[in-house]
Amino acid sequence: MALIVQKYGGTSVGSTDRIKNVAQRVAKWKRAGHDVVVVVSAMSGETNRLIELANAIQTQPDPRELDVVCSTGEQVTIGLLAMALIDIGVPTKSYVGSQIRVLTDDAHTKARILEIDKERILDDLNSGKVIVVAGFQGVDASNNITTLGRGGSDTSGVAIAAALGAEECQIYTDVDGVYTTDPRVVPNARRLTSVTFEEMLEMASLGSKVLQIRSVEFAGKYRVRLRVLSSLTDPNISIEEESQSGTLITFEDDGTMEAALVSGIAFNRDEAKVTVLGVPDTPGVAFKILDPIAKANIEVDVIVQNISTDGKTDFSFTVHRNDLERTLTVLKPVQAVIGARDLVSDDKICKLGLVGVGMRSHGGVASKMFAALSEEGVNIQMISTSEIKITVVIDEKYMELAVRSLHQVFGLEQSQ
Ligand code: ASP
Ligand code: MG
Repeated sequence: MALIVQKYGGTSVGSTDRIKNVAQRVAKWKRAGHDVVVVVSAMSGETNRLIELANAIQTQPDPRELDVVCSTGEQVTIGLLAMALIDIGVPTKSYVGSQIRVLTDDAHTKARILEIDKERILDDLNSGKVIVVAGFQGVDASNNITTLGRGGSDTSGVAIAAALGAEECQIYTDVDGVYTTDPRVVPNARRLTSVTFEEMLEMASLGSKVLQIRSVEFAGKYRVRLRVLSSLTDPNISIEEESQSGTLITFEDDGTMEAALVSGIAFNRDEAKVTVLGVPDTPGVAFKILDPIAKANIEVDVIVQNISTDGKTDFSFTVHRNDLERTLTVLKPVQAVIGARDLVSDDKICKLGLVGVGMRSHGGVASKMFAALSEEGVNIQMISTSEIKITVVIDEKYMELAVRSLHQVFGLEQSQ
């Protein structure tokens, strides 16, 4: 008998039938003798609907009130799921974040969890109940309702699992695990039976949407055993089968990972490239360019600066496409101040990365990657690397070609 946390995403609770299915699955684990805490998202589409309502009232919704509105989606789901469980004879209690006291900072719409009071949950578990908790929300020290950013119920699930010292946090979703790459682009992409949490972190930072990046950070920090698995299978499959399914997020030192050179390829088209041309190559210039951007709360990703030959250099970086206009507005005056020749941008780019812990101990991955791209005639605009990741920025029109060819070159396909 173990304590497990199960998190169900929006599609998994997208209709009353699906909620009843989730109840069957939860009941199965409970009846097998486990203590179960369930964390749920809002029904699919609901959070978007709530945001649209807010936008129809105020062009820039007040962040505190936006959280009041957006947090209601999850409240509906917890009540419905609790009813579905009670209806099949499983004693259950549901709670919103503020009742458990999921304490967060006060950064409305993107709050961070600081502490979770586990007493109430433990009391209920001890009395034999299943607990259903609303994901994506918490409360700040002054009792204001907060939300954790889009996709935040993954983080709620992991944080609750960490607070309770759960054996495993199972993230149920509409895909059956983490794949070598997006199966919509490469149909023979392979499901990974395990991936390290560092690889998962890199994949999330490259745009893989399977898990919210903060939830992976949390899992790494508190060493929560995480499994991504499908909620669309028959809810009555055996516990043995289910507990081996999906993808386990492991820790490199626990000896359970697959020894792959490259585990996956992640990519996204959400970014844009900004280049400041003819920048005087003097100390402090990078700071002068990036500081106002940081102050405007714009996240910068790949940064490239070349050596200068004539005292001038070009400085490029990427930002989220939605932040491009703002970035250019912030940089225009800076260009004049630092005496840069020009400011150009391109939003038709794609960021693509190979991820694999095997890279730590093996060379040649980058050259193999660049050879494959050059054979396809794909020009690389920017390169950046970490110990376990090689990222390139390319023209977005080559995205699918590049992903397919790299997937093949590194032997990631199903039949390997
Ligand atoms: N309901 C929230 C969203 O749609 C949180 C979540 O689903 O994780 O972003
Ligand atoms: Mg999600």
